[in-house]
Amino acid sequence: MTKEIDELPVRKPATSIATSGRRQSLSIVIPLLNEANGLPRLLARLLPVLERTTYDYEIVFIDDGSTDATLSQLRQFNETDPRLKSVSFSRNFGKEIAVAAGLRYARGDAVILMDADLQHPPETLPQFISLWERGYDDVYGQRMDRESDSATYRMMARSFYAIFKVLSGTQLHENAGDFRLLSRRAVDALNQLGERARFNKGLFAWIGFRSIGVPYNVAQRQVGDASRWSTRRLLRFAIDGIASFTTIPLRIWSYIGLLVSAFAFIYAAIFLLKTLIFGTDVAGFPTLIISILLLAGVQLISLGIIGEYLGRIYDEVKARPLFLVAEEIGFTPNQPAKPG
Ligand code: UDP
Ligand code: MG
Repeated sequence: MTKEIDELPVRKPATSIATSGRRQSLSIVIPLLNEANGLPRLLARLLPVLERTTYDYEIVFIDDGSTDATLSQLRQFNETDPRLKSVSFSRNFGKEIAVAAGLRYARGDAVILMDADLQHPPETLPQFISLWERGYDDVYGQRMDRESDSATYRMMARSFYAIFKVLSGTQLHENAGDFRLLSRRAVDALNQLGERARFNKGLFAWIGFRSIGVPYNVAQRQVGDASRWSTRRLLRFAIDGIASFTTIPLRIWSYIGLLVSAFAFIYAAIFLLKTLIFGTDVAGFPTLIISILLLAGVQLISLGIIGEYLGRIYDEVKARPLFLVAEEIGFTPNQPAKPG
């Protein structure tokens, strides 16, 4: 890993003054769902880290339909420091979409994505930044221990990654979460992807560019309940991920159909010969019922899968905006935000 780093040319001079003379800047994008209790603590740890860098910065909070005091806190933040900006959704659109929105609003030369619950330690940010300075476009945090997750969760996550790789051919970064730094060109690439079913983890891998992992330890969630993700939501997330990256589940049924038909044909031939030669009397009701049930099952599954994709096509065709903004705080009119 270190060897690779040394081979890359250093992109920026240490002073971080861009060729235009403008100081380069960082955007921190933080999605929030009912995080009012944790916000002051987050800023207390994040701001000193940002102050110590040589860059200008902005923090873009995406309030994903919080129902607690999150929004009023965000308004106060912006009054005391105009660099703390926020976008408030009209309702809860989900973290993936909140991140997509953050990427569109962020104006920095590098954009850092992190959670609000301090599970992503701000103290590791200088490492991310120095790798970006060395020319990496996608610096992702790599979870070293997954102790804060249950054993079942870890097992499910592992099988999901395996299935995803086999089906889509896209290798997701091992143990990479949403703690990430993206260069301007990586962000611009992501912003061009218009799909509604956002599977960020896959999209980050799909855009390519030079990427590298930074190991970090996941802290326990500081405030609030264990996670904002329910099992149902995680399952939905996994299905979305696979369906938006591969059509193999859709195509595989033609092969299975072919196989089943071939099997039925051979069986029929054998049965015919047997009847002609030995003249056996009518039998085989069990076979009949089994084959009917088997085929009906296969057909239902394949219909269901077609339905999954059809639903997705329907969603994309409707071309609804990705998200709706109820309030923008701290964005100047000449810094237009691109809505969904
Ligand atoms: N989050 C969000 N919208 C949601 C769920 C979560 O913006 O619908 C935010 C949440 O406030 C936090 C981050 O996404 O900043 C990660 O959420 P959480 O800690 O619940 O997830 P986990 O750590 O289990 O991935
Ligand atoms: Mg968390």
